[in-house]
Amino acid sequence: MTELPAGQRNAIGVTLGLLGDEWSLLILREALLGASRFVDWRARLPISNAVLTARLSRLTDAGLFVRGNGYRLTERGADVWSILLSIWAWEDRWVPGHVERLPGRVHRLCDKPFDPVLVCSACDAAVVASDRSLAGGFGPSGSWERSVPEATTRRRSGGGEVGSLNAGLFPETTALIGNRWSAALVGAAFQGVHRFSDFQRCLNSSPTMVADRIRTLCSLGVLSDDYRLTAKGLAFFPVVMCLVGWAQRWYRAAEGPALVYRHVPCGADFVAALDCSTCGDRLARKDVVPTS
Ligand SMILES: [Zn+2]
Ligand SMILES: [Zn+2]
Repeated sequence: MTELPAGQRNAIGVTLGLLGDEWSLLILREALLGASRFVDWRARLPISNAVLTARLSRLTDAGLFVRGNGYRLTERGADVWSILLSIWAWEDRWVPGHVERLPGRVHRLCDKPFDPVLVCSACDAAVVASDRSLAGGFGPSGSWERSVPEATTRRRSGGGEVGSLNAGLFPETTALIGNRWSAALVGAAFQGVHRFSDFQRCLNSSPTMVADRIRTLCSLGVLSDDYRLTAKGLAFFPVVMCLVGWAQRWYRAAEGPALVYRHVPCGADFVAALDCSTCGDRLARKDVVPTS
């Protein structure tokens, strides 16, 4: 757990700055699948030496890897598995003609293919964005300003950093959370924002930037013409909640959590967990087996 100073970026802002990046997500995915040496990532991803070096050192500085004989995932690094599994399932279901054919996945305990199901860890009930079973929102360190990651010093154009072309392996996820404005916009949409002026106020960004991000999300079919989340957009909820869960397990601002949710049906504080759609058991990282 990293303590964040009062008044600065909260757990959400820090996490989006770190994981709202396609290369970092891909590097972590390959690490979970066994990559641990520089050459492993170079062989598995269309990534340049410079980009790989920069991302590995950033993720190591943030405590997701430790250096030794190569790079080993820490508990914090390995804990991103639920975010990646949710992304994998969403892309599998909602992104037609995926450039990279995604492998299937089998649950070791029931030995069957499955989808991850977002549940309340206290009562095990399934939670979907549209059922309004979660109450709450910003906690003591929560605010839009503190939840949007800091701007990188490097200039961005077209959503990608200069010198590091997007891999294109998670194109739609990258469009949703691979850019600080997109991520904040998606977060705002899940909090019920659907007017242009409200998006602009939450993001405290230029109308041009907001219009550009909204246009992208509309073209992907994530937002409808009246700026509300579509079925495809609502289905991204498990990714968002797993990201929020990871953020708040590993970072805490001096004032307290950034987001606080209660699961209304059971009354417990909501903590996201994933169950197997086939057997209903709680999923654990070691029990998720990719199949070709
Ligand atoms: Zn519950
Ligand atoms: Zn199962």
